[in-house]
Amino acid sequence: MFGNFEPIGVEKGKKDTLKIVYKCNKCGMIKRNVVARDDNFDKILEIMSNPKVEF
Ligand SMILES: [Zn+2]
Repeated sequence: MFGNFEPIGVEKGKKDTLKIVYKCNKCGMIKRNVVARDDNFDKILEIMSNPKVEF
């Protein structure tokens, strides 16, 4: 089921990449998106500084 995917945390991936972890607010499905270097880094820092889950 597709609800809204909300960012819940940030993971380190391979080769210095970062992944933003999203969770569906309806079914709890987790998905990850690799962050591009020119993505909004302020947003990433905001998620990292305000995690909703612990990894
Ligand atoms: Zn869902």
